[in-house]
Amino acid sequence: MLDYEYLIRQRDYLLDISRALTSELSLNEVLRRILRSATEMLNGKAGLIALFDPEGGTFNVRASYGIQPALLHFFAPLLTDIPRDDPASFSIPELNRKMQLVARAAGMGLRQVIALPMAIGDELVGVVYIFRSQGGGFSRNEVRILQSFADQAAIAVHNARLYERVSTEKQRLDAILRHSADGIMILKPDKTIESINLALARMTGWPVEKARGRQHDEVIRWARREPGLSLEEAVAGGWPLSEHSVLYVEGDLLHTSGSTLSVGITYAPLFDEQGRLRNIIANVRDITKFKEAERAKSTFISVISHELKTPVSLIKGYASTLRREDVEWDRETVLNGLQVIEEEADKLAQLIDNLLDVTRLQAGTLKLKFSSLQFDELARKVADKFRTQSAAHTIVTSFPPDFPVIQGDEQRLEQVLSNLLSNAIKYSPDGGQITITGEVLDNAIQVSVSDEGIGLSPEQQELIFERFYRVDNALTRETQGAGLGLYIVRSIIEAHGGTIWVESEPGKGTTFTFTLPLSQD
Ligand code: ATP
Ligand code: MG
Repeated sequence: MLDYEYLIRQRDYLLDISRALTSELSLNEVLRRILRSATEMLNGKAGLIALFDPEGGTFNVRASYGIQPALLHFFAPLLTDIPRDDPASFSIPELNRKMQLVARAAGMGLRQVIALPMAIGDELVGVVYIFRSQGGGFSRNEVRILQSFADQAAIAVHNARLYERVSTEKQRLDAILRHSADGIMILKPDKTIESINLALARMTGWPVEKARGRQHDEVIRWARREPGLSLEEAVAGGWPLSEHSVLYVEGDLLHTSGSTLSVGITYAPLFDEQGRLRNIIANVRDITKFKEAERAKSTFISVISHELKTPVSLIKGYASTLRREDVEWDRETVLNGLQVIEEEADKLAQLIDNLLDVTRLQAGTLKLKFSSLQFDELARKVADKFRTQSAAHTIVTSFPPDFPVIQGDEQRLEQVLSNLLSNAIKYSPDGGQITITGEVLDNAIQVSVSDEGIGLSPEQQELIFERFYRVDNALTRETQGAGLGLYIVRSIIEAHGGTIWVESEPGKGTTFTFTLPLSQD
């Protein structure tokens, strides 16, 4: 073939390849086309491209031409002992001898092989092999041509790697944005929304698609805002001056449904290389939990200080009265005073125990001491104890005979009954009957404590098991209590594997019912 024809064909092939390189074909497809062009151009019968796999440390076939897949494994000897250190002086030792073996084994009538390096800089990333069935070596010109194909193939690998890096980076970023629990919003410099993630869609009620293109303040609407600048006010004032100036806005975000959510938004500017503002990235964090914790802390402090103050001031009052030196107290007065002091001291001790229990419950360190116990007997014992405390109430227990033995922590279950009975007494100021009833279910016992007291509205029933919750009415204001009893009761029942619930009607009375599992043997 004449040189110029060669050149024209080569040019056509290379054009074809550069088109393939710039189109969106997969690396495998680009390598396949390069290999086909190279093989045809050099009048080869077959060709291979092997790429180095850094993980396995071996060369593996990534494209083949003119070789049936079933025969590919015969070519494996050609892929070993490839020197990787210096692509410029590349040569595979014993290539021709190995070729003879491969040819014999594969039976394809191959007689000549040439192998050329695919290099990116100093890094050997692969090898291109062309096989011929006719004898005679490859001319210098042919080697040159094949090297240009090998270079194209190396570029294709390089591009593919870059592309892969960029696209995994992008996928990672997308995944972070999409799945972030924080709301994220990307704004253009004029504060129109480029995108928001799912979390922010949930927080604002704006679907992702609908939010796009809107103004920031259409989607981020404040029901209440902490003192400080909003994004709009800050921008009007010249924000951001540099990439380090971050803006923080906190308040209650208005959802499209009308509900609100406590959030803190951090706005960070993104500048391009010329120092122009490109984007503003907003990170929206739900701080409800944080706010709740803050609120719980202040409730805790106010409840506890109030609850501590009452007994302490009573104790202090009686103690200082009794120790007045200018008065001679009769014995009865002294005993009465001492009784109040003792009772109030007991209340303090009880409150402290409750607080310790709550702390243990929250830390998950409340341990139960299980033993076999007769719940009906326990109920009778607690009932007896409370009978002496209130003359206005009739306390009745009702358990079927042969009530089954259960496994439980006796002291803790006594605490449950004591709390429920003390509530029943406390919240039925006009007296009445208090009944403890036991029943046997399939896998559990069920116990109810009911009173004929002031009762609870449905809304109050939802809240009474929460820490520090007390119904706000005249009665709770004049009785003592920290709102911890039912929280502890529920925790103990649940730690036993049981459940507890309340049924009540305001003015008629209240029934608390719980179950405790029977052991399964
Ligand atoms: P503590 O038990 O910590 O001394 P407390 O009795 O106020 O204080 P809980 O036992 O947790 O706290 O009860 C919470 C609230 O539920 C009470 O303040 C009361 O308003 C309401 N409540 C509890 N039991 C009854 C009941 N039997 N009838 C009516 N209201 C009740
Ligand atoms: Mg109570």
